[in-house]
Amino acid sequence: MSDKPVHAPLIQFPVTDDCLLIGGMPLDRLAAQVGQTPFYAYDREAMSRRVHDLREALPDGVSIHYAMKANPMPAVVDHMAGLVDGLDVASLGELRIALDSGMPAAEISFAGPGKGDTELRGAIAAGITLNLESFGEFERALRIGEALGVAPRVAVRVNPDFELKSSGMKMSGGPKPFGVDAEQVPDLLRRIGETAAHFRGFHIFSGSQNLRPESLIEAQNATFELAYRLAEVAPGPLEMLNIGGGFGIPYFPGEQRLDLTEVSANLGARLGECQQRLGDVEVMIELGRYLVAEAGVYVCRVVDRKVSRGLTYLVTDGGLHHHLAASGNFGQIVRKNYPVVTANQVKDGQREVVSVVGPLCTPLDILADRMELGHADVGDLIVVMQSGAYGYTASPHLFLGHPAPLQVLV
Ligand SMILES: *Cc1c(COP(=O)(O)O)cnc(C)c1O
Repeated sequence: MSDKPVHAPLIQFPVTDDCLLIGGMPLDRLAAQVGQTPFYAYDREAMSRRVHDLREALPDGVSIHYAMKANPMPAVVDHMAGLVDGLDVASLGELRIALDSGMPAAEISFAGPGKGDTELRGAIAAGITLNLESFGEFERALRIGEALGVAPRVAVRVNPDFELKSSGMKMSGGPKPFGVDAEQVPDLLRRIGETAAHFRGFHIFSGSQNLRPESLIEAQNATFELAYRLAEVAPGPLEMLNIGGGFGIPYFPGEQRLDLTEVSANLGARLGECQQRLGDVEVMIELGRYLVAEAGVYVCRVVDRKVSRGLTYLVTDGGLHHHLAASGNFGQIVRKNYPVVTANQVKDGQREVVSVVGPLCTPLDILADRMELGHADVGDLIVVMQSGAYGYTASPHLFLGHPAPLQVLV
């Protein structure tokens, strides 16, 4: 036994006869149903189970919002809308999909720096909550609201004076394009109080892709403290407090699945305290990848098998143009492998160390670098797991002019 770090065990899909089942169907049969490779497949049952398990784990009284930028496929959003309490959008395009899902406008919020006037107009007309990112954005929202005869519903997105430690992506602390610096928020609150805008509360998002309970607890505690401080100078009672999310999933060798036991216990205590200090406020967390990433796979087909100076390459019809994150080029500093399997030889059969690459003429087009997989020949399917978030819409489909992948919800 070597003590080389390994991927966390994959638990979300059954394996029958050593073949991966997605949506209850062996993958080669699903590929026949889809009619082309490469494709993304998202398993609705896996998403439902994840939201159900999360609700069981979290204390009562925490609302769960889905951050749609993780996976904005309309069918996925429709499915998620039936499971969660609200949707968070980051563009007018996402807002249209959110509204199509039937989620009430009162449960939709819109964050993102650089909201254009057209986006603000659409959001205010729809009656959703704007998470304000700056003083200037608020003034534009006011003018647009006056022209429409609709009072904008606003929450202040705060750039906290702390950070979420050990995060895949830090989005707070220090100078940031996101939100209003905590120390400037009292001035914005005063300004909101002078206007007809409907003040709803705070949005405090400090980071993403975190697998450490102690870091999440520390950030949540600091978030509540910051909210209490700012609430003292708010123009009215808080209706909502969005405490961010940041729950991560295991992508790379050595990473463990997040254990929510302590996070939930701490959150339960904080909720009681929050009701005492702020009254009847809706506390929500917003999660993207944690809800959908593990429910999705990216599937491509081996088109060539070759050996170069001792290393076997499986050349597939899929690659970084469809799945930038798995190639390591979506914010990774040191490239690591996503979990990858051969669809019909998941665990058993002959194993071999191979590199899985795509068809693009660039050395960046790697899906698995020297990984042990079940033997695959030309025509066999290769599966990249953990691909239900930041895959299809986070990839440069046009690069090199190959056809786009398909997406299916099964
Ligand atoms: C991207 C984003 C999310 C979702 O992040 P995940 O890591 O997918 O959970 C949530 N909230 C905001 C404000 C974001 O920008």
